[in-house]
Amino acid sequence: MDLRVAVLILALIAFHAPSQAQFGSGKGEKKMGQARTDSGKNAIQASGLRPVYPVEARCPEIASPYASPTRYDGSARAPWAFGGLHGGIDISLDEGTPLLALAAGTVAMKGEGGMLEGIYLWLRHAPEDTGLAYWVYSKYQHLESMPDLEHGAPVRLGQVIARSGRTGTVGKHYGMSGYPHLHLTTRKSPEDVVTVGSRESFGGAALLDPLAIYHEAGAVPIPYATADGKIATPGARVVWPVACRPK
Ligand SMILES: [Zn+2]
Repeated sequence: MDLRVAVLILALIAFHAPSQAQFGSGKGEKKMGQARTDSGKNAIQASGLRPVYPVEARCPEIASPYASPTRYDGSARAPWAFGGLHGGIDISLDEGTPLLALAAGTVAMKGEGGMLEGIYLWLRHAPEDTGLAYWVYSKYQHLESMPDLEHGAPVRLGQVIARSGRTGTVGKHYGMSGYPHLHLTTRKSPEDVVTVGSRESFGGAALLDPLAIYHEAGAVPIPYATADGKIATPGARVVWPVACRPK
């Protein structure tokens, strides 16, 4: 059997197999002080997916996976945020690293949150953009500065949409130097539930392990773009959110 097919099958088995499921209390994007709920949309359940990086290129890798109880440095996450589990993936990056649209879509929301969130940008991807059966919303956090892109602006697959930073990480656990990285959250919904420019509307879509986007698009290893803006994986409709460097 072709190795790629075998890996894909294993990934899909892992995705569908009952795992040591951990459900987080969904704090989500709700404001501080609001009651925590365990109800559906913000529940965090380990997907069992493992990243399969391309062999011919070096991709900035996941430092803390989805649903992980620990940060990149191995310390335990604060129990009051998402039930202590990670609501997305972290990729450690130098400040100013270009971040790429993981699929074509439109800018749905941008803004500046406080601690743990920082400057963020949401993209909205229709099923036609990704080839997936559902809508995907992707949120890039801790950006260096507010992106120039306006609400509703179209973005291309692999387009530089922002630069990574450390906003929302300075102080508390990471100290005054903060932790420069990309936190990527993804949500999914069978219908488009998001109103462009409305922060609140994202809660209508369920949290999703970002790796599912790549695996469910049948893409193993993870498709990627290079720093010169080329989509390196032929036919890809989704790419890693940071450029990979050919070895
Ligand atoms: Zn994170």
